[in-house]
Amino acid sequence: MGLALASANQLFPSNKLRSAIRNAFELERLMYSDTLGTWCDYCDISSSAMAMNGLCSGAPGMGSVYLKLHAWGISDFDDDLEKAINKVISTEIMPRDHYCCGNSASIEFLFDAGRELNRPELSQDALRRLKEVTVRKSANGEFTFLPERYENYSPLGLLNGLSGVGHLLLKADNSSLNCLLL
Ligand SMILES: [Zn+2]
Repeated sequence: MGLALASANQLFPSNKLRSAIRNAFELERLMYSDTLGTWCDYCDISSSAMAMNGLCSGAPGMGSVYLKLHAWGISDFDDDLEKAINKVISTEIMPRDHYCCGNSASIEFLFDAGRELNRPELSQDALRRLKEVTVRKSANGEFTFLPERYENYSPLGLLNGLSGVGHLLLKADNSSLNCLLL
């Protein structure tokens, strides 16, 4: 939310937008849970004790936002960026591989953080994870996407299907490819 407003402000600068940006980033900071070590997922409003590990919600997504701000020369969120990196590297491969909230989200964030921060160990961790995902695919015959109850997604799609994983496989070969969403 904060990054979307900040991007809009670059095109159409206004005091109103600047104030909304401050509020959005403050709100996003409030979503961080020390107990979980990540940003809570409020999709289920009855619980604040849940977190995802994806681009849509959780450390890879928030980390990608703070990484973008870092690349713009804004260092106010570097501590938040480190929190995101710590969460992602301490969370091992998950059962699902898709780009939105599967392993591809973490892998992309680690590739981008490694390149932007000049920390090759993060890029190597991304490669290790991508290798684990492809080895599991070879063993199972398929990458794993959303659970069966999500009937209406395209298995070829970017966020929840093969295209997102394909983007990551291309990125392993060409680390200058940018995150497709931010
Ligand atoms: Zn998602």
